Amino acid sequence: MVKRLVDVLVLNSNETITIDSPDPERGLGIVDHGGVAINQGRIVLAASTELLERKFRARRIIDAGDEIILPGFVDPHTHLVFAGARDAEFQLRIAGVSYLEVLRKGGGIIETVNLTRQASPESLFQSGMQRLDTCLESGSTSVEIKSGYGLTEDSELRILRIVQRLKRYHPCNIVPTFMGAHAVPPGEILSEYVPSVINDMLPHVAREGLAKFCDVFCERGAFDSIESERILRKAAKLGLKLKIHADQFTDNGGAQVANRLHAISADHLVHSTTEQLEKMAETKVVPVLLPSSSQSLLAGENADARGMLAMGLPVALGTDFSPSNWMLGQLTVAALASRELRMNASEIIRGITINAAKAIGLEKRIGSLHPGKQADLVTLRAPNHRWIGYTYGERIVDNVLIEGEWVVRDGRRIL
Ligand SMILES: [Zn+2]
Repeated sequence: MVKRLVDVLVLNSNETITIDSPDPERGLGIVDHGGVAINQGRIVLAASTELLERKFRARRIIDAGDEIILPGFVDPHTHLVFAGARDAEFQLRIAGVSYLEVLRKGGGIIETVNLTRQASPESLFQSGMQRLDTCLESGSTSVEIKSGYGLTEDSELRILRIVQRLKRYHPCNIVPTFMGAHAVPPGEILSEYVPSVINDMLPHVAREGLAKFCDVFCERGAFDSIESERILRKAAKLGLKLKIHADQFTDNGGAQVANRLHAISADHLVHSTTEQLEKMAETKVVPVLLPSSSQSLLAGENADARGMLAMGLPVALGTDFSPSNWMLGQLTVAALASRELRMNASEIIRGITINAAKAIGLEKRIGSLHPGKQADLVTLRAPNHRWIGYTYGERIVDNVLIEGEWVVRDGRRIL
């Protein structure tokens, strides 16, 4: 038999976790001693090493001996472009001051907004590139990025243009989200700020095609459910897809808004009612859980992941990287999801691949090793898939490929 020439063969893994299974809701589609054939940036076949060697020859062979292969991780929730840090505020939180209390005193988001407005576009771009490299070295190949530290028309657009520039220059798949309704800016009142989001910012964002999603921080002290719904309805009218920060600190009607508007995702959901969560099974809203964010708040409160899984919801996991929750690794999220949310390895793996891809509307393109999908994958130094969520703080990422391009080798960014 003549062997077909492909660009890349990744071979000899302990397990190749394809997430391409006859059981689309739960299965991991694990191939023992498997690998992946890649051509022109696409998955050709994920199968046993023996079969791949029989069918293909390759321009480049990557050995994944003693490793496992997975689809590249998807981080569906970050606030990655901002200036400064809030390490001092974290010390206050350790001493017992609550997040909302910090916000009321003009700290928190507002402090970051002031620093971000003053920062040069170049410095925001450079820190964004570095943070995305950290994502890559942690195995994430797709990253959603929200604006929301500008809170004026000019500064929000400036952040989204930086996100567009990151999209052009960084190999990660980047999904931009407009989040002008992250907080009411200093010196303004809600009743004046919301119309400026609806009438000025959103049309401009849509006109320039600067974002795929619109997100709103629906919370006491931020935007209530009525204002959140007004903003999201306008966004939908302008062709943006919808996300919402829902019920993080209180049950504030966020999940209800997500259900009513058929948002793509509702994120946090720490205080959502069972009734609204059950409804998400019908409205197809993807729950995005952010256990590191809960942990950084030091409140000891987590979303009911087990309840959501029992309802059959496709639970996705994200980092919620921001200055109040400084972490970018989906494997760290995995370790928290097992310990804090009691998710098992299979649930976690789906949460950081296919379900996270659903949360950013890209499940047809990424999130599994199905033939024809974009060849984004990661190899981990681990004996089997149960090590995801089990190991903690080790550098187990070895190789990362995006669209068949080798971007991380031996855990370090190349190119
Ligand atoms: Zn967030």
